[in-house]
Amino acid sequence: MKRRKFLKNSSLTTAGALSAPLLASCNNTKTKKETSSTVSNPVKPIVICTWNFKNATAKAWEVLQTDASALDAVELGVMVEEADPTNETVGKGGRPDRDGNVTLDACIMDKDSNCGAVVYLQNIAHPISVARKVMEETPHIILAGKGAEQFAYEKGFKKEDLLTESTRKQYEEWKKNSKYETIINIENHDTIGMLAIDKKGDIAGACTTSGMAYKVAGRVGDSPIIGAGLFVDNEVGGATATGVGEEVIRTVGSFLIVELMRQGKSPQEACEEGVKRIMAKNKDRKDFQIGFLAINKNGETGGYCVHPGFTYRKYDASGHDNIQVNSFYS
Ligand code: ASP
Repeated sequence: MKRRKFLKNSSLTTAGALSAPLLASCNNTKTKKETSSTVSNPVKPIVICTWNFKNATAKAWEVLQTDASALDAVELGVMVEEADPTNETVGKGGRPDRDGNVTLDACIMDKDSNCGAVVYLQNIAHPISVARKVMEETPHIILAGKGAEQFAYEKGFKKEDLLTESTRKQYEEWKKNSKYETIINIENHDTIGMLAIDKKGDIAGACTTSGMAYKVAGRVGDSPIIGAGLFVDNEVGGATATGVGEEVIRTVGSFLIVELMRQGKSPQEACEEGVKRIMAKNKDRKDFQIGFLAINKNGETGGYCVHPGFTYRKYDASGHDNIQVNSFYS
């Protein structure tokens, strides 16, 4: 079947989400020169992911040692967390919505800007693999809810109860007050977004989550939205996000960060600008966390967040580290 290209050759002029000051400061000629001149000695392979999901980066690193693609590495890497019932923010064992249903969101993007996503998927432990099937075996990009679930069964995925004893108990407890609040860095939300560069120097990304715990039934966050929770452009780099998805969607965060890198910003500078853009629209708000993570074609990485506490894992030939990032508020 035909694969769908997403925003291939995207340019600032088509990026309606970018603001006027950004457009004014654009200098494509300079950017291109800088990008190609720094790609002479890229760090590869390399994998990074949001938070301290070290088993996921270890798996992806193992895959990257073979001739497998970055796409395989990010899929197999995040699947480790999807399968872990003790991780209560992703896949099996993810916390439910306010009706007690576990609903999963995921997306994946490859070096050719092919992408696939599932939103509001229930009863399937590996939404990232369903997203990949959407990308590779349908002419579409996003499948939602019952349609996505039906598609998964047709592709051989098995039905599973994703609620565990622990998340069921927590949900029963939560129902006593039914109070919805986002708690900064407390495991109410902790998406895994992963970016990798393979031996050939190609970039891919994956992002998967159970979303905000006790969300309104039907809610979909940023994580499965290409451009918001994840974006990859193999000529430039990739970015991914975690935290309150509504705020990431409002600034098309990951796409913004990749475009900032295209203009010549480092991954670190681009993530900082992404968070500042969000904070400019939330001047008096301190009650939410966002963490951005980015990598450029050269294998340089960066991260930034709203409040202290966000870390990312990085695995390359120099080691396997958990990196504490700087934050907008101290
Ligand atoms: N971004 C996810 C969402 O809004 C949650 C998270 O990363 O913490 O669904």
